[in-house]
Amino acid sequence: MNPPRMPVLFLGHGNPLNALDDNAYTRAWNEIGRSIPRPRAILMVSAHWYLPGTFVTAMEHPRTIHDFGGFPRALFEVRYPAPGDPELAAHVATLLAPARVRMDHAWGLDHGTWSVLRHVYPDADVPVVQLSIDELQPPSYHYELGVRLRPLRDEGVLIAASGNIVHNLHAYAWGRHVQEPYDWAMRFETTARELMLARRFDPLVDYETLGDDALRSAPTPDHYLPLIYAMGAATPDDAVTFPVEGIDGGSISMLSVRFG
Ligand code: ZN
Repeated sequence: MNPPRMPVLFLGHGNPLNALDDNAYTRAWNEIGRSIPRPRAILMVSAHWYLPGTFVTAMEHPRTIHDFGGFPRALFEVRYPAPGDPELAAHVATLLAPARVRMDHAWGLDHGTWSVLRHVYPDADVPVVQLSIDELQPPSYHYELGVRLRPLRDEGVLIAASGNIVHNLHAYAWGRHVQEPYDWAMRFETTARELMLARRFDPLVDYETLGDDALRSAPTPDHYLPLIYAMGAATPDDAVTFPVEGIDGGSISMLSVRFG
């Protein structure tokens, strides 16, 4: 029997401290895990693996990477011991051809992955493979890679992408005071939602042409590009829903998107 077709997720991860917190965002992440078919593995595109080249983690036991500074010790002690899946890594490379995908044995699971998965799958018992984002490539390239990943959805693999649709750390309040969402952040998030609900992904792939709100919301591409992978892996018949909502610290959209 074929496994059920898996949805595709875009997960807004935000502040790394969400890994330790119990808040509205983390409870909604947990609910996602309980509301979708259990995957046999997860392919995760993380904003925090942004470098020249396309890599997949190919180790049996990826380490937990604490890729941040200035946070409490407890955050550095978090381990997310999900196994890897070298066979899936090789399969992903085949699907993405002719793009050159290299097998990686040095990275692991960064906090874009584990700060969220810790809540989605607290037992860390679903194998995880990470896919890097090639910083040298234009948005259309990332969309195309997302398209090539679609077959995984019928193989019981959950395609998940972790970033933030609005991610401006310069404007972020870091908990120092309550900061209402900035107007430009709300406008851009609303635009993104409306375009996704209308299945109009092209303008969101070419987001740099969407004006000032887009430039302020995605001043660097790293946290926005994961959304493009998720849109690429979506198909026109997928329902589009938003299982997590909110703007944190004025300038980080915690919006998550479920396709299918
Ligand atoms: Zn991040």
